[in-house]
Amino acid sequence: MNAKLDSGTTTRPVTRETFDEVLVPTYAPAAMVPVRASGLDLWDQNGKHYLDFTSGIAVSSLGHCNPVLVDALTRQINSLWHLGNGYTNEPVLRLALALTEATFADRAFFCNSGAEANEGALKLARKYAHTKFGPHKSRIISCLSSFHGRTLFTVSVGGQPKYTEGFEPLPQEISHIPYNDIEAARAAITDDVCAVIVEPIQGEGGVIPGNPEYLKALREFCDKTGALLVFDEVQSGVGRTGALYAYMDKGVTPDILTTAKALGNGYPIGAMLTTNEIAQHFGVGSHGTTYGGNPLAATVALNVIEMINQPAFLARVKEASEKIMANLRKLTADFPQLFGQVRGSGLLIGLPVAPEFKGRSKDFTKACEALGLMLLIAGPDVVRLAPALIVSDEQIAEADRIMRAAAEGMLNTAPAK
Ligand SMILES: *Cc1c(COP(=O)(O)O)cnc(C)c1O
Repeated sequence: MNAKLDSGTTTRPVTRETFDEVLVPTYAPAAMVPVRASGLDLWDQNGKHYLDFTSGIAVSSLGHCNPVLVDALTRQINSLWHLGNGYTNEPVLRLALALTEATFADRAFFCNSGAEANEGALKLARKYAHTKFGPHKSRIISCLSSFHGRTLFTVSVGGQPKYTEGFEPLPQEISHIPYNDIEAARAAITDDVCAVIVEPIQGEGGVIPGNPEYLKALREFCDKTGALLVFDEVQSGVGRTGALYAYMDKGVTPDILTTAKALGNGYPIGAMLTTNEIAQHFGVGSHGTTYGGNPLAATVALNVIEMINQPAFLARVKEASEKIMANLRKLTADFPQLFGQVRGSGLLIGLPVAPEFKGRSKDFTKACEALGLMLLIAGPDVVRLAPALIVSDEQIAEADRIMRAAAEGMLNTAPAK
């Protein structure tokens, strides 16, 4: 008999401590374990309520257990779960039509995560340049402090050395340049470059919006050298900035766009969008993934796109953004010892900590969590807010009240200077 089954694995109570016993320790999750959620409301194992201003990490944009999505997914679950990619299916065809109608793209490739969408984009850019110009055109340009995922290729392309340390040898021909620096881009984008990959607003790197002039300059340098411009919209996409995709408000169109996170509202899906001309270079057998374009994920994503890609919905994202930003400006004015100038786009908002509180963004989110508000950080020096896009005015006011209380608590416990 199996000893593990004998010990009652499935009936043993699970707690936060169980994580430390049986999970590979790649994460340090919060002390509470969420068990149930609806909209922006969430409850932990003890029944304590939290207001969720994280949406996962900019994922559950239509709120937890959104009833329209629950209904669509339930119907699909009773019809068809999975086929290999030797067959196509109706939900994925509908989703591809919706995404290509709504964006610059003519074609979509589906996968399961942001890293995988970027992996596909980078491979496609290499293949395209290899076929069209020859193997010398293989260099990839990316920005410092960027984040593109955790596969070996995407961490190597990402601009955060802490994520590649110890994983060498790394993929070759990748160069990093400072973000929003046009002259550095001009010097780096030479004839051997096959792709320039950039987040229109850096998320993990500290919530740093890209200047439209910078993104336009990247477009110009790519056109001059035949490099492909790849926008990583894994975090900025699907309505997060108040546009369906951030590029639409920046006045710059990429050659390849990657999207994931909010595309499935928590159901795993990623996509790489591109033009007919570029897509041709990914012929039959050149790339693939077992679950990509699975009917369950595609059903959820189609409903997500249909709900978010509405002028009134996107206008409300911008309105909610202005309300939160106004509150945060007041918070900074009232607590200049704690916070710097708020920044961001739409409902992807960064609140940097003041120099006196350097490295302590997590202390603030922990203080908020104790008072029932979940927030994110974007590195040790930036508090990040990414509530569901359906956040109400009442929820915005409640978050403000809790953040003020947490800020007061932090000042009172700050070590005397
Ligand atoms: C989260 C993120 C990724 C990685 O997505 P995963 O689904 O975690 O693989 C890539 N790029 C950006 C900009 C992201 O924010």
